[in-house]
Amino acid sequence: MNGNVQQVYELLKQVTDPEIPVLSLEDLGVIRDIDVNDSEIIVTISPTYSGCPAMEVMEQDIVDVLKKEGHRVGLPSNIRVETQLSPAWTTDWITEKGKKALFEYGIMPPSKSGEILCPQCESKQVELISQFGSTACKALYRCTDCLEPFDYFKCH
Ligand SMILES: [Zn+2]
Repeated sequence: MNGNVQQVYELLKQVTDPEIPVLSLEDLGVIRDIDVNDSEIIVTISPTYSGCPAMEVMEQDIVDVLKKEGHRVGLPSNIRVETQLSPAWTTDWITEKGKKALFEYGIMPPSKSGEILCPQCESKQVELISQFGSTACKALYRCTDCLEPFDYFKCH
């Protein structure tokens, strides 16, 4: 990475998922490419969920952060956000740090093994309440030990 690209990458760490403020774009693994030339910054991201309104908010946040902070470090003020549909984003791209942050936030991160733990007490005694939790990408579970309901971030 050249210096400008590195600076943009650092600034993008401030942009978080509008629905899950503990997850940054970096944690989500959605940043595909950053290009900085003399006149503009082009950030390419993978949409997490097609039609997810959060993506539009995220795109606007990228532009806002780069406009606000970028000029202080001498970056161009024209910002373009492009989306790359292929290969499609999967929950596998969420970083280990991101998964840990989700769990600490009270959301069970995507689990390849299918093992779902209660984020409150780490009990394995959980039951599915609804395939759709607070958003379509999450399912609602309840822990039968501590009785707390929690969201599970579904694999896809
Ligand atoms: Zn529990």
